[in-house]
Amino acid sequence: MGKSVLVKRTFWCVGILLLVGLLVLPTNLIAGKAKSSSSQGKWWDTIPEDEIQSCCYDSILYSDIAPKLREIEKTSNRVKVDVIGQSAGGRNLFLVTLSDPQAMGRLGQYQAIRNTMLKDPEKAQEMIDKFGDFKVPVFINASIHGGEYPGVDAAIRLIETLAYGDSEEVQTILKNVILLVNVVQNPDGRVMGTRRNANDFDINRDFMSQTQPETKATVKIITEWNPMITLDLHGFVNPMLIEPCTPPHNPNYEYDLYLQWALYQAFAMEDELELHLGDEYVPARIPYRDRPSNWDDWGAQYVPMYAMYHGSYGHTLETPSRAEDGVDAHYAAVWGALKFMAENREAMLHDQVEIYRRGALDLPQMLIPDYLLDPPETTYEQYNALTIQEFPTAYVIPADQPFQQSSHQAARLVDFLLFNDVEVEKASQSFALNGTNYPKGTYVVWMDQPKRGLANTFLDAGPDLSDIVGLSFYSPPSVWSQPLLWGASRVVVEEEDFAVNTTPVNNAEKPSGSVSGSNAGAYAYEPTSIAAYQVTNQLLDSGVAVQRASSAFADSGTSFEPGTFIVPADSSLANELANRHGLDVFAISETPENAVMMKKQRIAVYADEGTNHALKVLGFDYDEVERSDVNDGVVENYDLFLNRNRSWGGLNDDGRASLTRFFDAGGDYVGLRSTGIGLAVDAGIIDVDYENNDGNAIVDVEYSATDGVAGGFSDEDYAFVYTPAWFTRLGDGIVSSAVFSDGGFIVSGYWPGWQGSGAAGMPVVVHFPDDNSDTTLIGLDITFRGHPENTFRLLGNAIFNGLD
Ligand SMILES: [Zn+2]
Repeated sequence: MGKSVLVKRTFWCVGILLLVGLLVLPTNLIAGKAKSSSSQGKWWDTIPEDEIQSCCYDSILYSDIAPKLREIEKTSNRVKVDVIGQSAGGRNLFLVTLSDPQAMGRLGQYQAIRNTMLKDPEKAQEMIDKFGDFKVPVFINASIHGGEYPGVDAAIRLIETLAYGDSEEVQTILKNVILLVNVVQNPDGRVMGTRRNANDFDINRDFMSQTQPETKATVKIITEWNPMITLDLHGFVNPMLIEPCTPPHNPNYEYDLYLQWALYQAFAMEDELELHLGDEYVPARIPYRDRPSNWDDWGAQYVPMYAMYHGSYGHTLETPSRAEDGVDAHYAAVWGALKFMAENREAMLHDQVEIYRRGALDLPQMLIPDYLLDPPETTYEQYNALTIQEFPTAYVIPADQPFQQSSHQAARLVDFLLFNDVEVEKASQSFALNGTNYPKGTYVVWMDQPKRGLANTFLDAGPDLSDIVGLSFYSPPSVWSQPLLWGASRVVVEEEDFAVNTTPVNNAEKPSGSVSGSNAGAYAYEPTSIAAYQVTNQLLDSGVAVQRASSAFADSGTSFEPGTFIVPADSSLANELANRHGLDVFAISETPENAVMMKKQRIAVYADEGTNHALKVLGFDYDEVERSDVNDGVVENYDLFLNRNRSWGGLNDDGRASLTRFFDAGGDYVGLRSTGIGLAVDAGIIDVDYENNDGNAIVDVEYSATDGVAGGFSDEDYAFVYTPAWFTRLGDGIVSSAVFSDGGFIVSGYWPGWQGSGAAGMPVVVHFPDDNSDTTLIGLDITFRGHPENTFRLLGNAIFNGLD
């Protein structure tokens, strides 16, 4: 390649000058950051099982990995192995930490300095100088997609080379690096030969939501080490694909600092690919350099993009081949990155610290420098206009009512932020903001913090990109927002003079719950938190007589949501619901007339990983069915059929006949998205017309105040759509539970042409309360990849509402 890394030196000089003027920030501790370690005895004794292997070379079996790592750990003084968690299927996850023997004895000190970089960049610089040969962490994440075998084998080859090798290159790398290798990020997928884990989740779409144990384990590695480089090993793109990415780039990144190293690091990987494998393997495909669009780094659902928010130079690597040379290519590319890092360590490190410093000092972002701005067929807008973020001063997250509908979700959000290394504080006294008084203990997320980009990508609503011409995304969604989609209210504080004394918190306060009122007829709790559904399902399991109000009611001057749960007048039960589960429980004078006795339903589910996840979170028992099961008549053994996947036309005659018998016999149906809706319409069990579209967005929804399916939701609330469907005609007796808001119902996302779609104001959740078989249809995506937690309750309502 003609480009030279020498260009970087000028930037580095600027970096040094900037660092000289650092403010000393309050030093805040590293204590409490527990180091993970393998506690169980013999982690290397694995149980052999049937395993799928690579089609095309002798890939290492998952069951051979632990013994192999154990052998290396025993025979090399450069290697430490930790079990850092278990996969969804219960298989161990291994982290190999590798450096020269002296460094292995002081890993704690290295970690401490890495953390000091965040709290006090200047002090960290002094520590680095005193330390002499300061090594930086490089994170290798192998085969997050289980069927993309070469990553794991390349990672093990890399570990062996660095564990035993003596070449000059090995010595140089060991002098500069603490290598962190997540040896097999997806054990279930490797064993089963699948992209996904045992819960059917694509882990490389889960880093915004973090629903899976594999994801959480990796997040912990990243937050404990703040790796300077993150390489995520995939397959298969030929010629080999090496990021950085095409537009759109997310404005929450400090993209200029990232790109000036990531691009040249990609060139170095490409050079090494040629050196190891020959010139038929180059040029590699570097999306930023070679493509106008469609391989973007917009979303933090991917590992390298998520790591970029922690200051990492992140790259996805797609090896070109399923055969042994696919292993060679990964190995070569990683080697190239390690050599590049060894050559440029100090300057790269300073720019990583600069990312934190910009955040901590609330410094403005900078555009991508001109010399890096020459990719093909792109516009200035696509590159730079989207890359400047105006961060707010703070986000205020009230802990409790009346500001939160669910204090559980507020606590959940705060704990999530803390787990992700976002700094959260709480107010030491009450304060006023825009005419509202917030109590002492209200959470404040100040945006002058080292990882402001990550904080903002979680807490912001995101932009509406629908009108930008020429955008395309590698993989939607183009939008997410923890507060909006998890049902946790937060206030965006733009006022620069906002001030309140706050102190850091390490965890959220648990919702306290309450029992109020002195009546003795029964106790009621509203369907306003996920906890209410979890508790209800537990009570049904243990045989408690729970009833559900099918519509709104009032008792002793208090009005209750439709769908309110009612339990017998047992004060110890009421106290348990309040104290143990944090619910607000009300003593009411009598069970309302519209209450329906609940029972455990037998539920057949033909859906996706997100829907299964939501059902588990809500505490439902259910059985998964496949198309063949439906065709075989299996659904007739159940009370309710929940379907997101299968259209009427996708079943055979037997399947259609079986479902017809199921509906005639009073079976309830819940249909999600256009496929689930279409089945009900084609089966003739509901009289509606609908339309659909392929946008994805956060939308404003207005919920019915009286309908049981809408119970527990604010009149106006947010929801997520992906390929939304809405209803253009409702036949007799069809009830609308929720509509898209009138006018500008799009909050953020990418739904080109939404203005002319006719969806504004139209019903998006409907049900048909037939005397016999109940049908509920939902055009929102209420469970997408397990992310939009707030609308999980809508699924709970749809299931419970059929009881009558
Ligand atoms: Zn992949």
